[in-house]
Amino acid sequence: MIKAAVIGDPIGHSKSPLIHGYWIEKYGLEGSYEAIQVSSNALKEKVKSLVDQGYTGFNVTIPHKEAIMALCDEVDATALAIGAVNAVTIQDGFVTGYNTDAFGFIENILQARPGFDFEKGPAFVLGAGGAARAVIYGLLKAGAPHVILTNRTTGKADELKAEYGAALEVVDWQEKENHLANANICVNTTSLGMKSKPELEINLENLPRDALVSDIVYAPLETTLLKSAKSLGNPTVSGIGMLLHQARPAFEKWFGVMPEVTTELQDLVLK
Ligand code: NAP
Repeated sequence: MIKAAVIGDPIGHSKSPLIHGYWIEKYGLEGSYEAIQVSSNALKEKVKSLVDQGYTGFNVTIPHKEAIMALCDEVDATALAIGAVNAVTIQDGFVTGYNTDAFGFIENILQARPGFDFEKGPAFVLGAGGAARAVIYGLLKAGAPHVILTNRTTGKADELKAEYGAALEVVDWQEKENHLANANICVNTTSLGMKSKPELEINLENLPRDALVSDIVYAPLETTLLKSAKSLGNPTVSGIGMLLHQARPAFEKWFGVMPEVTTELQDLVLK
């Protein structure tokens, strides 16, 4: 029987057991997927024990996405570039780390807006945290000519600039509205706008009216950013699909089936 899991601390809030459990049942597979709480000081030992217990793989969430890299026998090129691992496979004791967040972000856009042309113009990204690293990687891989990045703490955006060079332009957080005029897509990767967090305050008037506005925050499903974009007539894509799509490649690696994201699954996760 295939055994998979998600490890993190805390782990109670994770939607992964619901998503993978839904697919195991939907595709009639023999397998299990559980949430395992693992503290940082127990990480090394726990990974070894999952290998010893014959797990096929596991997802990795906060706070272990970076620390797990040193415990993998191999880390694939995407995860290395993003600097974090969120999924692991174990084959004959060999542990390989992957990152599926960039895939999840791009697939969500393409499912919601089939044929969206990432090459048409620069991408505007708010935020330079862990999620931003995957989003920026995904946007550039998908063909965005360059990324305009703004973050409250400029130093964190500058670190990404050092990695990406000319493909990335850092602009001041206080002047972000002045840099929207050529954007093809505008993405919020900050935690602003999330339930119990402050709102993201941005005036989208300068954005071209056909630019896509996407928020990776999915609680609430329709953030204030998406509401204001809609009221101006811009197309929008919410963040829940990124969460669902990032789960697909790992499920395929473990269970051998590339699962589908359905509205039934989305409703289940949002319940
Ligand atoms: P993170 O690494 O902690 O980064 C947080 C980002 O938000 C940083 O850019 C931070 O700016 C910014 N920020 C926080 N408070 C702010 C404030 N008061 N004013 C301005 N900027 C502020 O978090 P993360 O892992 O990147 O996650 C960010 C969000 O994305 C979370 O809401 C998370 O739930 C969501 N997310 C969604 C998915 C999905 O599948 N849809 C996947 C991953 C993450 P500073 O650098 O200045 O602190």
